[in-house]
Amino acid sequence: MSDRTDPTVQPDPLAAPTLDRLGSPASDGATRVMLLGSGELGKEVAIAFQRLGVEVIAVDRYDGAPAHQVAHRSHTIDMTDPAEVRRVIEQERPLVVVPEIEAIATAALADIEAEGLARVIPTARATQLTMDREGIRRLAAEELGLPTSRYAFASSVEELREACEVIGFPCLVKPTMSSSGKGQSSLDGPGDVDAAWEYAQEGARVAGTRVIVESFVDFEYEITLLTVRSVDPDTGAIRTDFCEPIGHRQERGDYVESWQPQVMTQDAYDSARSVAARITGALGGVGVFGVELFVRGVDVYFSEVSPRPHDTGLVTLRSQVLSEFEMHARAVLGLPVVTTMASPGASAVIYGGDGVGDGAEGVGFAGVARALAVAESDLRLFGKPSATAYRRMGVAVATAEDVETARERAREAASRVTVVR
Ligand code: AMP
Repeated sequence: MSDRTDPTVQPDPLAAPTLDRLGSPASDGATRVMLLGSGELGKEVAIAFQRLGVEVIAVDRYDGAPAHQVAHRSHTIDMTDPAEVRRVIEQERPLVVVPEIEAIATAALADIEAEGLARVIPTARATQLTMDREGIRRLAAEELGLPTSRYAFASSVEELREACEVIGFPCLVKPTMSSSGKGQSSLDGPGDVDAAWEYAQEGARVAGTRVIVESFVDFEYEITLLTVRSVDPDTGAIRTDFCEPIGHRQERGDYVESWQPQVMTQDAYDSARSVAARITGALGGVGVFGVELFVRGVDVYFSEVSPRPHDTGLVTLRSQVLSEFEMHARAVLGLPVVTTMASPGASAVIYGGDGVGDGAEGVGFAGVARALAVAESDLRLFGKPSATAYRRMGVAVATAEDVETARERAREAASRVTVVR
């Protein structure tokens, strides 16, 4: 009988998922998963679920989002509206809700989880803590004692001025409710405070946001340590596995290229795994987590964590036996994962560029054949309905015997693709 119509079939929201049966899509016994957020990462997650015969429902705030295009059904709603989120979940009755973005009415997810209406990946609490830089920073630094940059919070420009004096310059100011460098500025001195406050208010997801001031960490390199919590098929207990570290380069607070593996000393890698195990353990649930860390010598600083696949992890589409998206789908369904790297690899982002004009719809991609002529390369073109100069429209991925060559190949392949009218 379908759990869409039978209210007695309720998943235990916090129990480890042990599905002894996967259903067929569009049948009464379908295993139904809802993605909240349907961008390029969600599209790959949707495809991974599709390959396991799962019924996929993709939700986003605009029509024709990348994962909408590969789902069984799609919905367009304001995902920050708790009533809307509840409405689609009650209508579709998914077994599992898989958030793909941070800007979601997470309080509604907490209610849905508490009522046993659906499981939330990894947990509703994790989605609440990680959508707010304050929540996750206080958990990491104050409850778990993980090393982080020095930080302070401010709710007004006056408080910000004081906080900057306490933290010292140079420092960074970020809205607590934002991601991917939005509204973020680096400050060299007190003269930068007013502009940083204004910019943070503009870049925040909600008006009147608090900001975090962080001391500037002069790191040698930054990594994403993909960490997977999944059900161990032998014991039934949750286990934690780590991927090879992913190095990446950021511009404008956005990742432009990533590679795997990032070379690290054994000591630094051990510390990184320890930090990742502790933060993901505190968040709980199952799935892939992207743990962002700054590394200087043997010192590892916790920066952030995404309780879901991470954009820098797009490289795993080529570099791993299972991509981060396949690992996520498997972990969500209670299936075992493999974190083995298959080859050194790299990814390079393809942006809209300045040739098509802001908001251009129905754009094309030129140079695809030349890009794919680069050895061991591949492309993902996301199919987004419109482009802007800095919108991520696709990604090139490549493998090689060494990371340097893989990076060159990915960059070369990406540079051969142009977004055109
Ligand atoms: P975030 O939006 O917090 O992920 O920050 C985007 C990028 O800004 C990071 O990936 C780093 O490259 C840089 N960044 C953020 N916080 C710091 C910090 N405290 N010190 C140095 N660089 C930082």
